[in-house]
Amino acid sequence: MQTGATLISDAWCELFKQYEVGVGVSIDGARSVNRHRVDRAGRPMFDRIVAGIETLKRHGIPFIVLAVVSRDGTHRAVEVLDFLRDLGCRWVGFNIEANEGANALGDTPTLEDARRFWRDTFAWCQQNRDVTVREVQRLLGFLGLEPAVRAADAQHDLIPTIAWNGDVVLLSPELLGVADAAYHDFVAGNVMTDTLPTIFHRAGDLHYVREFLVGLEQCKATCEFFAYCQGAHAGDRYFEHGTFTATETKHCRTSAQAPVLALADLPKGKEPGITVQERLAATAPVDPLWTDMIADHGGDNADTPSCQDWGHREGSHYKDGEFTKK
Ligand code: SF4
Repeated sequence: MQTGATLISDAWCELFKQYEVGVGVSIDGARSVNRHRVDRAGRPMFDRIVAGIETLKRHGIPFIVLAVVSRDGTHRAVEVLDFLRDLGCRWVGFNIEANEGANALGDTPTLEDARRFWRDTFAWCQQNRDVTVREVQRLLGFLGLEPAVRAADAQHDLIPTIAWNGDVVLLSPELLGVADAAYHDFVAGNVMTDTLPTIFHRAGDLHYVREFLVGLEQCKATCEFFAYCQGAHAGDRYFEHGTFTATETKHCRTSAQAPVLALADLPKGKEPGITVQERLAATAPVDPLWTDMIADHGGDNADTPSCQDWGHREGSHYKDGEFTKK
């Protein structure tokens, strides 16, 4: 369960323990970093989030954190990570702020902003092995895979999101509730009348799913980051370009390209004239500082599978223009 934690009470904690509910808390860092996170009345949520976390800790319930990184937070990675570690967090995922859904006009980080953030994060993780950062785990896990597996196409989860009335949208939760007649409001079916497997079976007939498959093939044909990224994040393509056939987005630059570039920056600095793949192959896996971490996170040891992990383990999820599994 992912929560703002502001309403967590002793009674909720008893329920979490009874049903073994895993808890993720949304907090972006210390008070000044977290100032963008306000409630509907515009009031800061920081004190109430921390109070919720303290209640979890009192009950011995572990928690993970999902944190949004705004443009003004990209130079504060170390401060954020220190804060979260001291708060008791042992696993954190960073979402670089993107223009999507209700945040269409936000001032989002550039690739270079994000690259600095990830560079600082990788460096911090080298020194602090008691906290796992999702994106570090994901990239090092990728590097720890066999080369042939690394080069394989990934599976893509259809990510069904179900609305209050049973409507189902696919590929991106942010598409839920978005009105666009050209895509029939992205509704793939309704669980009041169809089973989810039936809805999945028809997915290949949907205009936006077909467009997304075209976009994936374009990514594969044109982008040197494809092996790691696998071209996911359908919603970002739509919100930024108005179509799913688009390839590069602000989000993929800051959340897929920037971590790769940042890791490749660390050991040797920039070396013009070589590709990202060559740079990664020549640096991270043979740098002794990273070897242990790759072993920890790599291949079959990765314990938090992403769509990339599943894909690289189990082969292609889309083939010949269709989703083939799940
Ligand atoms: S980094 Fe962007 S352009 Fe490259 S494969 Fe990923 S989504 Fe496509």
